[in-house]
Amino acid sequence: MTRDYSLVDVLSMNGGTGEHSYATNSHYQRSVIYETQHVVTMNIREMLEKIGFPDCIKVTDLGCSTGQNTMLAMSAIANSIIESYQQMGIKNPPEIDCCLNDLLENDFNTTFKIVPSFLEKLIKTEAKGKCFVSGVPGSFYSRLFPRKSLHFVHSAFSIHWLSKIPDSLESNTKSIHIKHPYTPNVYKSYLNQFKNDFSDFLKMRSEEMVQNGRMVLTFVGRKASNTLSKDCFQVWSLLSDCLLDLASEGFVKKSEIESFNMPFYNPSEEEVMEVIFKEGSFEINKIEKFDHIVPYKIEYEEENDQDQSVHMEASINHASWARCITEPLLVAHFGDAIIEPVFDKYAHYMAKYLSVTKHRPNMTLVLVVSLIRK
Ligand code: SAH
Repeated sequence: MTRDYSLVDVLSMNGGTGEHSYATNSHYQRSVIYETQHVVTMNIREMLEKIGFPDCIKVTDLGCSTGQNTMLAMSAIANSIIESYQQMGIKNPPEIDCCLNDLLENDFNTTFKIVPSFLEKLIKTEAKGKCFVSGVPGSFYSRLFPRKSLHFVHSAFSIHWLSKIPDSLESNTKSIHIKHPYTPNVYKSYLNQFKNDFSDFLKMRSEEMVQNGRMVLTFVGRKASNTLSKDCFQVWSLLSDCLLDLASEGFVKKSEIESFNMPFYNPSEEEVMEVIFKEGSFEINKIEKFDHIVPYKIEYEEENDQDQSVHMEASINHASWARCITEPLLVAHFGDAIIEPVFDKYAHYMAKYLSVTKHRPNMTLVLVVSLIRK
């Protein structure tokens, strides 16, 4: 039975530290945060040279979720700040106000429990006692901070989540996202929602940030802007197929699938740039692209049972990853009985796919966008 739910209450990732939690299943995101630390360091150095070296610096991680990833990002930010002051010969490091943001239902407490070890590991002993961590609950599509208070904004794997399910998706009955074949209307609805949301996001931050403040945004993007002949994000295509299978087995009503669409959009670089130029408050410092390390292209018509068993472990891990980021949303719409069967199917389909080929060209990539507040 489909329930009434508000998207902001169910978009959060699985909390806690258990088998299906985000904290346990987000190695992939962690590895990308690690790989892109140099972008954070470079932006912080350049920013401090421009704004001077204030006594107190306010930074935020938007869509911090739960677990170690946000603390890894905060460590890179805090250590880069401290090192920059040292390199300038400034004896006393600044006070650093580290604000962790996510939606109200996010499991902040699991993250807060890691704060003492994060503070303990800060590189310079002089910085001890000068770093303050707090939680800021609320949507980053609204105002979260006082005017002109933020120096540095970080966000990883969050702004591809939309503020709402796009309008006019009634025709999108065989898929929960933009899956080939689809009508141009489906693509346009998603693109419009992304443009509105990302523009709002930039506007809110432009009010909150100081002049010459920096923002580093990492999110899932798409290689080509013309997608009409391809799926937009193959993970959701596979999940669509799993749900349709469950419908044909009588587990789920077709109408429930028809009324469900992922509030997610992975934009192309051109689409991102267009919104930034149009909104007008930020200058693009750099856009970097990283290829996904996970093979997302799903084609599983050829079968080879022996090869599939070899790939089963990787496929189960992949299913756990997909589960930890979608479970609250799927439970809210379909109820919790579908979770085990849907991700069992997901793992099997993924194993079939991997047995066909390890690396296929795919549409997705990671975009790392660094911006300067004008
Ligand atoms: N930054 C972490 C977590 C990414 S998961 C990492 O890289 O590992 C994405 C997070 O974005 C989730 O915790 C989700 O709750 C949050 N999120 C999605 N929409 C949001 C919104 N509008 N405002 C604040 N957080 C949001």
